[in-house]
Formats: sequence, structure tokens, C-alpha cells
Amino acid sequence: MDRMFNPEMETLPREELEKLQLQRLRKTLLYLKNSQSFLKEKYRDINPEDIKSLEDLKHLPFTTKDELREGYPFKHIAVPIEKCKRMHMSSGTTGVPVINAMTEGDIKQWGEIMARCLTAAGLTSEDRLQIMPSFGLFNGGFGFHYGAERLGCFIIPAGAGRSLLQLKLMKELGTTAIGAIASYPARLIEVAKESGFDFRETNLRVAILGAETWSDEYRRRIEAEMGVKTYDIIGMTETGGVGLGIDCSARSGIHIWEDHYIVEIVNPETGEPLPIGQEGELVVTTLTREGLPLIRYRTRDITKIISYEPCDCGRTHVRVDRIKGRCDDMLKVKGVNFYPSQVEAILLKYKALSPYYQLVIETVKGKDEMTIIVEKVRDLSQEEMDRLKLELYDFLGFHSNIQVVPEGTIQRVPGKAVRVQDKRKKN
Ligand code: ZN
Repeated sequence: MDRMFNPEMETLPREELEKLQLQRLRKTLLYLKNSQSFLKEKYRDINPEDIKSLEDLKHLPFTTKDELREGYPFKHIAVPIEKCKRMHMSSGTTGVPVINAMTEGDIKQWGEIMARCLTAAGLTSEDRLQIMPSFGLFNGGFGFHYGAERLGCFIIPAGAGRSLLQLKLMKELGTTAIGAIASYPARLIEVAKESGFDFRETNLRVAILGAETWSDEYRRRIEAEMGVKTYDIIGMTETGGVGLGIDCSARSGIHIWEDHYIVEIVNPETGEPLPIGQEGELVVTTLTREGLPLIRYRTRDITKIISYEPCDCGRTHVRVDRIKGRCDDMLKVKGVNFYPSQVEAILLKYKALSPYYQLVIETVKGKDEMTIIVEKVRDLSQEEMDRLKLELYDFLGFHSNIQVVPEGTIQRVPGKAVRVQDKRKKN
């Protein structure tokens, strides 16, 4: 059994968990109907008491990101802004951002679920957590902060970037755990190599990574090179930030904190609910959020339910698979659908290649062409190169151009990595 932050809730038997969810779902609906959110109109004809079981959830309308955007800045917030204490905002790289304004209760809820996540990652109050996402509009930095504060860790609020300084702090301050955007450890490893830094001379043992899709191969590489155990943490601004769920020591899926959220998987095209084990879009209903309560929020993230059975770690909360990608990230090239992370998984089987890669897609003579640009750590042998080409062809079903380039060729950007350049689109 894992150590847990809130063992009573984290091991609640399924029957009781579902009873609690139903009760909180009705309460959330009633709350939303009586709130000042412009979304309340959607629920005008729905009586919370008519929700007899969790099965009835599927009759409620979805909430989409576009609806929340229409509420910009605060029309979708359920309470007057004076009652909110802070806000975070979705990155807004594609149009109008979504603001989540948080009440004091929301911040407490965030601290609770994040403290559970950090504990699931093996942290205790004895740990020294170096927080590497930014402390700003993006929710990552503060999410880790609230969780670590609740747990009682020693917090090193380093924020984003300045990799040399990060390494220096890590070693000199005795950092035992880091929280970061998933692609960032690749940069840390690179800077460590350049500067002769040895992770074995640090106390680092845990890396909690999220905010991006990362492959199992990338995971293995980070663990081997940094000498850490990694944990995959998920969450988004709309649902209340990082901490919606995390994988545990059993590494058999990501636990979602079901006393705070209900998750469903639906067909991303039709919205039809999908059974256990079938891949589709993750839909989240919040049960305890006050500023931005959400009913059936379409996250656009692709995953599947692994199991509702109790896990080897002792937790009873549902497990979903690691996020495979976002619906919007799915590429369609020459009629083939795939996610960048699936190409990453193939590339990283090769020790000679680095985790820095980019897929460039363009139209050449009226046809799709894809070039995979990937950096090398050392030269590939002809045999390795042939094998790589074959493996990529086997997976994609079409020939792509492979450009192996020297380290440092692909631009290092702060925040989330840019994996795709789709030059076919005009916008
Ligand atoms: Zn578990």
C-alpha cells in the first residue's frame, strides 16, 4: 500500500464513492442553476432531483471550450469576482483564452488534490520540491506550490527556465523532487551534459511531469539519465488546474480524484459515451469547484478508462490511461491518422537520437509530404538508419523524409515544446 495524503477518501469503496458523486453532482447542478454564470441557461429545464443515478449524467448537455471562451473574461464564472481570490488562464495560443477564477474554497480544493498527487509520487513533508513551471497565468507553478504547502514540503519556487541555475539550486539546496512541464527534463539533461553536471551527485529521486503528452520511451530515458522515478500528472486550467490525477507506484494508469471529479470517455465525433477500454475523448464534470463548476466538459484529450477496480497501490479511484494526445493534435497525413507522441515513441527507441524532434508537413505537387527532423546525440549506423526508416514506415504506412540533424538545431522554446509545423494550413 502506498502512503496517502487522505487515506479515507482515497480508499473509499466504489459504492460509497458513487453515492458521494451522485449527491455532489446534484448539488453542483443546483448551484450552477442558481449562479450568475451565463451557462446556467443550459440547465433551466433540468431538475437536479431528476438525476437518479450517475447513468443519468449522459443526458446532460456537454460544455465546450468555445462556450467558456464566449464567457471571456468572467461571464462563465459562477460567483461575483469579488468572491474570487485569484485566477489562471489557458494559454490562449489559439484564440480567446479561458479564465478560471478561483474562490478560497477552490484554492483549498486545489491544495488538497495536489497534496494527494505529491504523496502518490512518494513525497512527504521531508522533501524539497523544486517547482519549475512558471508562476503566472499558467497554473502549473501555483498548483505545485499549493500542494507542497499543504503537504509541508520545503518549496524551492524556481519558476521556468534558467536551466543552469536550476541545476545549481538542485545540487546546492539538496532538491529531492522536481515538478516540471514534461519536455523540460530533456533540456536539463542537455545543459547538464554541456556543463559537466552529474545528477548522481544530487539527492534528486522524483520528477513529476505534465502539461504535455510524453511517450513511455521518453519516460524511460528521463528516468535512466536523471536517476529519478517519474510520475505523470494531469489537469488543466478549466478543471481547476494541475492535479486532476496522477499515476501511482503501481504504474497502472492515472488515478482521477473521483470525490472531486467524474470522468467519462466519449466518441470525439459523435459524443456517444464509450465503454471501459475504448479510446476516446476525456470528459470531466467537477463536483466541488465554486468559481467555474463544469458539467461534462469536453477536454479534447484522448485516453481510455483502464479500470474502476481497486489498484495495487490501495486507491479505489478510477484509473485512466496516460493521455495519448489532444484531438486537435491528431495529424492526418496521406489519409493516415496519428499523434506526434506515437512518432516520438519510435524515435526514442534509438539511443543515438535526442528527444528534440519536429514533424514538418507540407504540400508538394498537390500531395502531403512529412519530414521528421530529429536531433542526434551521436551518429546512427547505416543499419540503425535502415531499421528506423522501416519502423516508421511500418507504423505510418507511408514514406516520410527523415533528417537527422546535430544537437541544438531545433529551437529551444520556453514552455511547451513545438512538435509540429503543419504548413498545409493557411491560418
Ligand atoms: Zn494506484
